[in-house]
Amino acid sequence: MQFQFAKAFDRLGTESAFEVLARAKALEAEGKSIVHLQIGEPDFDTPKNVIDAGVKALQSGWTHYGPAQGLPQLREAIAAEILKTRGFKPSLDEILVCPGAKPIMFYLLMVLCEEGDEVIYPNPGFPIYESMIQWVGAKPVPCPILEQNDFSFDLESFKKLVTPKTKLVILNTPSNPTGGVLSAELLEGIAKIAREHKFAILSDEIYGRIIYEGSLKSITAYEGMRERTVILDGFSKAYAMTGWRLGYGVGPKEIIAKMTKMQINSASCTASFTQLAGAEALTGPQTAVEEMVEIFRQRRDRIVAGLNAIPGISCKSPKGAFYVFPNIKKTGATSKAFADVLLNEYGVAALAGTAFGSYGEGYLRFSYANSIAAIDEGLSRLRKCAEAVMSRK
Ligand code: PMP
Repeated sequence: MQFQFAKAFDRLGTESAFEVLARAKALEAEGKSIVHLQIGEPDFDTPKNVIDAGVKALQSGWTHYGPAQGLPQLREAIAAEILKTRGFKPSLDEILVCPGAKPIMFYLLMVLCEEGDEVIYPNPGFPIYESMIQWVGAKPVPCPILEQNDFSFDLESFKKLVTPKTKLVILNTPSNPTGGVLSAELLEGIAKIAREHKFAILSDEIYGRIIYEGSLKSITAYEGMRERTVILDGFSKAYAMTGWRLGYGVGPKEIIAKMTKMQINSASCTASFTQLAGAEALTGPQTAVEEMVEIFRQRRDRIVAGLNAIPGISCKSPKGAFYVFPNIKKTGATSKAFADVLLNEYGVAALAGTAFGSYGEGYLRFSYANSIAAIDEGLSRLRKCAEAVMSRK
């Protein structure tokens, strides 16, 4: 049967981390040794108190449909968490719980944007932003995230991207793939422009608990921003719960109501036992999160030092998340070619910087959510790969 697929599908992108994982697994199945530095998920187990809460919920019958917007118990816990970390307490109708944080991007773009609208988004950035902007037929306007700006951007360049058609601006701090963090001054400047030009903001703060100096600065702290911002956050990264699929959005109730309608049209609701585990994650002891961040810091220091010791490669020390974004321009290879050789010939799975947009050319992304031993082995293979690539020039 020859299918005629919907035209919008041609505009849909993907997240190549899942493709590289599949290729790496196929190589492993052939007996090759692979060092996994590609996947964006903590290698830690979900904290025991959270697992226990999930199991207890399952055994107590929390196995049915729940409210589309999320269980009130979890939304209460999220409201308290937002008060603690962002300084304001949202009402329960300003919170939507989803199966993972990703649907928040999907729903918000579907709710707000269409043909004729422009959406400014970080490039390099999480690939689903550009993919979804394209899918809804809006125009993607990349905001370059450059190494010389410490993997942030300057306000003057940002201003030039804003037009009367700008409907939405996507921010991500700390950032995937660079680990960059947006400063308070920059956020204040963006807030001023947002008030003048009246665009909405999607603030992806999913790595907000994984910051190495200071604490998360959210755009919602600035005047007039709460009424135009949807915060995206979730449990995948902070509590090592990627497979539970649990995330949430916090924003103006009119938007949250429409996004809830999107959820009713797609997932219906989020698994009830998962939500009760999430409530325990937020309200229970936070020591596991603190320990995880400390271990990530040690691994970050190890991988950054190791990368900077390899001829042809240089790497800034990221301020948050668990990724490094080393510059490989001096090796003379493109990101994609380098990442392919690194995986196929040296058995290290990493992502090309271009998997996150065109401004990622000349970079690779490594996730250091792996043991120090794996990081050391990856670095040693990478050194050999860089030497070989440079000698082929
Ligand atoms: N935002 C960013 C920047 C991410 O890196 C990810 C996951 N890699 C998500 C959102 C989605 O998180 P979840 O797995 O909870 O859907």
